[in-house]
This record gives sequence, structure tokens and C-alpha cells, in this order.
Amino acid sequence: MSENVLEIHDVKKHFDVGHKQVIKSVDGISFSIKKGETLGIVGESGSGKSTIGRTIVGLYEATAGKVMFEGKDISQLDRKGKREFNRKMQMIFQDPHASLNPRMRVGEIIAEGIDAYGLAKGKAKQERVFQLLERVGLNPDHAKRFPHEFSGGQRQRIGIARALAVQPSFIVADEPISALDVSIQAQVVNLLEDLQKEEDLTYLFIAHDLAMVKHISDRIGVMYLGKMMELADSQTLFQDPLHPYTNALLSAIPVSAPKLRGTRERIVLGGDPPSPINPPSGCPFRTRCPSAMEHCAMEMPEWKEVKENHWVACHLY
Ligand code: SF4
Repeated sequence: MSENVLEIHDVKKHFDVGHKQVIKSVDGISFSIKKGETLGIVGESGSGKSTIGRTIVGLYEATAGKVMFEGKDISQLDRKGKREFNRKMQMIFQDPHASLNPRMRVGEIIAEGIDAYGLAKGKAKQERVFQLLERVGLNPDHAKRFPHEFSGGQRQRIGIARALAVQPSFIVADEPISALDVSIQAQVVNLLEDLQKEEDLTYLFIAHDLAMVKHISDRIGVMYLGKMMELADSQTLFQDPLHPYTNALLSAIPVSAPKLRGTRERIVLGGDPPSPINPPSGCPFRTRCPSAMEHCAMEMPEWKEVKENHWVACHLY
């Protein structure tokens, strides 16, 4: 776990929404992910977390900045390079129902990528589909059925099998468990963890709350209104959070251990995040921050490594 498989440098993704208005969905984000690592990204809706995922897989073109995969700038890839990038970099979506073609049988859905990249044919292809279904905890017989015949958790397993079919090395999982029952969420996370070890995969795991990314992530980044607020290894982020926004998110997680109950004060944030069309001046979190100072309205805090591998953007540090 040393070599960076993905590096993003000051990436921005702005959307022109007409009337000279621009949504700064992602506004200058940098991080790297090592081979075999899982980086969790957390944020409320409108934080830009899904946009960054889509920009990394190439579904959106960055407005500015660079996305480097295996040492190459993805915007500079030739046709062959782009095709290989599209195979290696796969995405799992939040809503497996919407992302699976309802008119195709599950076997055909999984085989689509195998065909597109010419990875297997005939009997070998069929066996690969059966093997993938078993790998994700389904039954080879399921290949004949249609997506609507499955539960939400099973559909997410089909989405995972489809992603695995092209032998990727990197998976962006965009809220893969948010739409599932709590009882099913842990099963899908366990499956992703097992597959990561077996297939040597690297993950970017996007979620809207910290509890969802805690177990699967080696490091966690917290986004707010298009910017990264804090980034640290998971244990440090949970035990020694620095940013007031991270503190507020952590205080909202129910504490299960009885001896810890009552040790963490609940911080209730007022209102919703401001619109990314018209973000506040200075620190984007200042309108909801319990520690905001006068200076916070004047200047965006610098993104700083305040302790080893612990990055934060806040004037308190
Ligand atoms: Fe709060 Fe100021 Fe830090 Fe922003 S910079 S999080 S407003 S203290």
C-alpha cells in the first residue's frame, strides 16, 4: 500500500445553470488514493461528493485541475488508453434498480462488459457469468431472471457483479448502501471488503454519513459545499476530529457502547447547507459553524496538513 493509484489535483467541476449562474459543485479538491486502499468520502446532499466520484470515473469532465490514474492524466489519454481506463475504473451506483436495464436478463447485463472488452466468448463467457453471480452471493440460475424479480440488496449484488465482470482495479461506489435496509447494509459492505482482498481492488466509497464509511475506510474525507473540510485516517477522524463540521457529524451518530453514552455532546447544526450557487464568503461552513469568528467570513481557510496525514481547512488551526 504505497503507490498512489489515483491522484486528483485541485479539481473543480462547475455547472453553468444559465442566467450567468454557476454551481460550484466541486471547487478545488486534491487527494490521492494508494493501491488497495479505501477512501471514504462523506457529505450532505449538495456537498459535491457524487460529482467528485463521477469526475474521477470520467462521466464528467473536470472544469479545472487534473485527475491522474496510474500516473496518467485521464484527459490526455488516447483512444486505447481511454478504453483501458474505462475498463479498469468501474462505478457502483446508489440505486441499483435505476442502473440495471429492466428489459435485460441478469446474465445479459453481466455479460455486456465481457462482450464489450472481448474478455470471453461462448461457454467460457457463460461460465464467467455464473462464477460472478456466485462470487457476489447469488445463484447461477438467477442469470435467467429480470432485475425486478430481486430485492434491493440482491440488485446491488448484481450491480457489483456487473462492475467486476470487466476485471477492474478501481471501484467508485456512490452511496452503494444508502438505499438498502439497515440489516442488508452490513452484508453488502462485507461483500465489498471480501472482494477487495480477493481481487486487489482500490475503492472510493461515497456516503452521506460517517457511520456508513467507518468500517470499510482506511481514510475518510469530509466534504461540505464543494470543498474538502478534513481528511485523516479513519481512527484519527473518529477519535480526534479537528473540523467543527466533522465534530457535528460525529455528534449525530448514536453511541452504542453504554460507558461512552453521554460523553459526546450532540451538536445540532442550524438550517440546511447554503446553496452552492451562492456560497458564503470565506469559509463555506461559517453560516452554521458554532466556532465561527469574524475572520471566517473574510478568507477561505487554507487546506493544511496540521498533523502527519491529517489535513484540515479551518482558521482554528
Ligand atoms: Fe468554523 Fe471558521 Fe473553522 Fe470555518 S474556518 S469551520 S467558520 S471556525
